[in-house]
Amino acid sequence: MTILILGGTAEARAFAQTLVDRGRPVISSLAGRVSAPALPAGAVRIGGFGGPSGLQEFIVLQRISAVVDATHPFAARMSQHALIATTAVGCPLVRLDRPGWRGHQLAGQWTWVADTDEARAAAALAERPFLTTGRQSLANFLRWEDREVLVRVVDPPSFELPRRWQLIRSRGPYTYPAERQLMVDHATDVLVTKDSGGGHTSAKLDAATSLGIPIVIISRPAQLAGVASVATVAEALRWLEAVPYP
Ligand code: NAP
Repeated sequence: MTILILGGTAEARAFAQTLVDRGRPVISSLAGRVSAPALPAGAVRIGGFGGPSGLQEFIVLQRISAVVDATHPFAARMSQHALIATTAVGCPLVRLDRPGWRGHQLAGQWTWVADTDEARAAAALAERPFLTTGRQSLANFLRWEDREVLVRVVDPPSFELPRRWQLIRSRGPYTYPAERQLMVDHATDVLVTKDSGGGHTSAKLDAATSLGIPIVIISRPAQLAGVASVATVAEALRWLEAVPYP
């Protein structure tokens, strides 16, 4: 009767803690993308499963009774694999997806785009972008080598960044005054980000808006059809309590 949480987010950690507090057996799975990740309560495994078949095998071997996909909103491949594997073995699956920032949109100039190519195009005239789209996307912005780009990532990229770029390594959460000061000091003229959602990193949106800095924001991947979806840990718990166990 073990619950598998596909994690890597604050919500996944909160859910693991909730289950541990209730004495429910839980295994959290992390991709292993970041060094020294914040570890959830309970058992943890780290690294890919080897595709949907590997995950399917894991579910069977570990006698997993339900899977909670609480991966990052942009980890679309893992979510797809979770759907394939759980469908194959008849294991209940729910997506725990924190709300995105469409509802957060304040008065200001927000441009929603589909991907990094569109983000580059939308910010084509900027000279001092503040880039917070994640380490894995940085290669797509390297043609901005002549611009004064401020990049913020958790772990540094594996390649050298252009000489004029300034790299900040940090994990958040961030506060409004500090975000505002950072953008003032850098003289940011566009914030390029993605719709990660949640409150940990949303202060930059308010700070940019208050400074009149346009925001270019990459939309989330489409939700998978046929997967139950909840937005909070409490809803995930209610879903779990309604799962019929064999
Ligand atoms: P992805 O493209 O959906 O996943 C790629 C592969 O990583 C999966 O096929 C799986 O490998 C493995 N994987 C992902 N999440 C896993 C988990 N929780 N447990 C075990 N294996 C996992 O996701 P991604 O490459 O991690 O990230 C894609 C996007 O999400 C990027 O935009 C990134 O910035 C953002 N993001 C992800 C995380 C995260 O913790 N994953 C955190 C912050 C941001 P196998 O096929 O071998 O099972």
